[in-house]
Amino acid sequence: MSGIVIVGGGPAGSAAAIALARAGRRPLLIEREAVVTEKVCGEFLAEDAARLLAALGRDIEVLGAVPIRRGLLGAGRAQAEMPLPFAAWGLPRARLDAALLDAAADAGAVVHRGVAVAAADHDGTGWSLRLAAGGVLAAPQLVLATGKHELRGWRRTARGGALGVKLPLAGAMPEAAIALLACPGGYAGLQPRPGGGANLCAALDPAAPGAAAAARSAEAFLSHVTGGSALAERLLGSLRPVLARPLVVAGVPYGFLHRGLEGDGTEPFRIGDQAAVIPSFCGDGVAMALGSGLAAAAALASGVPAPAHHAARAAGLAGGMRLAGLLAWLAARAPRLVLGSVAMAPGMAGWAARRTRLGLV
Ligand SMILES: Cc1cc2nc3c(=O)[nH]c(=O)nc-3n(C[C@H](O)[C@H](O)[C@H](O)COP(=O)(O)OP(=O)(O)OC[C@H]3O[C@@H](n4cnc5c(N)ncnc54)[C@H](O)[C@@H]3O)c2cc1C
Repeated sequence: MSGIVIVGGGPAGSAAAIALARAGRRPLLIEREAVVTEKVCGEFLAEDAARLLAALGRDIEVLGAVPIRRGLLGAGRAQAEMPLPFAAWGLPRARLDAALLDAAADAGAVVHRGVAVAAADHDGTGWSLRLAAGGVLAAPQLVLATGKHELRGWRRTARGGALGVKLPLAGAMPEAAIALLACPGGYAGLQPRPGGGANLCAALDPAAPGAAAAARSAEAFLSHVTGGSALAERLLGSLRPVLARPLVVAGVPYGFLHRGLEGDGTEPFRIGDQAAVIPSFCGDGVAMALGSGLAAAAALASGVPAPAHHAARAAGLAGGMRLAGLLAWLAARAPRLVLGSVAMAPGMAGWAARRTRLGLV
């Protein structure tokens, strides 16, 4: 092996592993789940994610993604719709993550599943990874790709955090569209899944009335999203939950951007959500994760130290992240204003949607 260890086998970790393996570096990728399962995610992928997946050897259509053509917006009794200014799809995360982990192994990475890393320490020359099941692994170079989860000693410097809530639904979604549904404390995205059914996923302020209850029960979540929204009532009417409790992740630090340490260069390479978390309502986190994995692999191959790599990435992302933060702030506080603007000027909404897609390598 090359001595590069990637911790986390989501889109970011797998993308880095594929690129490093192709460059002849034979990395070790460690993923704590033995089998890929559902993850909290809206599952909306646009053309930049499709392009990056193709570069990594996986075709989004061959993976069975459902094309999505239109965006629908609902806030209370008001509704608007817009054509999407780019190609887009819905693809379940379990299918995407499994395909990418297989692609990493096919490319020549060593993939260890069902192994959790508990902590990482640097002794001035290299990394020691403490494994949750006991034992220590030495790693000259470390890539941190643990996504929404923090590794002891290397927490992200982010404050606050939203509640991510996801509920797969069975039945027939009446439209090949993504619906963004304003609800107390945030919004939910609803879109079809391959083979029928739909995915309902929300980003909520945990302090908002009803948010905590919505995270505990499928029925409460559905009524939180539906309450008073004509569009939600119409779209969710023919769908039913397949789980009694939604999947939940807490403390999502929307807007987090790792800018790189000043100093001695002993930080790990951060990729995916460990490097940047695009504000909700905008962008493709998956495309950003894939792009960041490829970029980190290129930096490692050319000997760029982690802090310099992080500073350069942050400089490239900062403008789009600021605009995304502004749009997310507006959408949370004035959903009807956003909806009215989309109805009056769909071209402008398309421009904003494009400007906040930051999947580029
Ligand atoms: C509510 C919500 C909705 C979203 N909707 C969308 C959407 O519609 N489209 C989109 O593109 N993005 C969406 N995102 C963002 C997207 O989910 C993330 O940006 C993306 O998953 C980041 O990929 P990643 O590889 O960095 O992390 P993850 O996908 O979180 O993967 C991290 C991996 O690391 C593993 N891991 C964690 N800790 C350890 C450890 N200690 N040891 C070993 N392995 C470990 C985990 O098991 C996991 O497999 C959404 C996010 C949220 C919260």
